[in-house]
Amino acid sequence: MTTFRLTKLLCVFSILAVALVAAAAIGFPSAIDQYAPFESTTSECLICGRMRTVERRWMQSPAESIYVGDDSLWMQPQVDSEHDHWWAACSTEERPGWFDYSMIGCGGGVGGVSTLHHVATNRGADVAQPLVNEYLQLTQGGDLKSVRNFVQYRVMPALQDRPRAPAVAQ
Ligand SMILES: [Zn+2]
Repeated sequence: MTTFRLTKLLCVFSILAVALVAAAAIGFPSAIDQYAPFESTTSECLICGRMRTVERRWMQSPAESIYVGDDSLWMQPQVDSEHDHWWAACSTEERPGWFDYSMIGCGGGVGGVSTLHHVATNRGADVAQPLVNEYLQLTQGGDLKSVRNFVQYRVMPALQDRPRAPAVAQ
């Protein structure tokens, strides 16, 4: 009777031990994800509109991922495929130290290619094309401020400037 109980106890104990080890092995990486310091920066290429995210995580080498979205696919035929990407940071998420809250910083984005794509979709290629040409000319200059100003004061207004509705005949 005693032997039977002991065996049963050992059996329960070893199952518990296995469960604990498994939980620790599964839980540890996700605890690092949740609490370890990290920094993740997303940038847009001002020329082709691709998005790049660089993640720096604890004890890992930086990981880079590039996303080719609709805007970038639309822009692709108009740009030199061999161009050097011009990455402009648009948002950052980071946890500066262990167990800190993560913080998100935005507002640096230009959105040049996506805004031009919007103009082409909503206003037509004839409105968008001259802006695209001028925009690409500007990106060759390499001056971030003029590119940003051009998007803000020339491309965005074109998006809002809807064709006037024809007068209704009375
Ligand atoms: Zn690019």
